[in-house]
Amino acid sequence: MRAQYRRLAAGRRLDARICWLLSQSPGPLSIYEIAARLTDLSGRRCFPNSVYRALQRMARSGAALQIVSANGWMLRDPEDPGPVLVLICENCGGGSQHPAADLGQAFGRLCREAGFDLQRPHLELIGTCESCRTTAETEQDGGRIYATL
Ligand SMILES: [Zn+2]
Repeated sequence: MRAQYRRLAAGRRLDARICWLLSQSPGPLSIYEIAARLTDLSGRRCFPNSVYRALQRMARSGAALQIVSANGWMLRDPEDPGPVLVLICENCGGGSQHPAADLGQAFGRLCREAGFDLQRPHLELIGTCESCRTTAETEQDGGRIYATL
């Protein structure tokens, strides 16, 4: 019994550390990145399979979202289980989530028609974030000005 409590407490500590790491990241983090950062922070080796189990636990509770296109994970607001649009920047790897109730209804209808049970509705879109677009435009402008000198 005591060993079970210790394992449960250790699991919750790991979940809390992963939550903190994901909250500090501007985009999705892979299991290996999370394990490496936790190892660096604590000085004790953190194994990817432990991180994987914790993320699965967090996903079941609605606290984490697997981002397939980025091979990573992001935090998810468990209080708002509605569908979300996940925007991933292919330049900097940043990611943001936006509520997408309309898309969720459309996907729900399409999935019902196809006989598919939609579990965790989210849609991942790959593009370029505003910050990277602004930087690219500034560099282009700078290049153009430099070229005319
Ligand atoms: Zn970006």
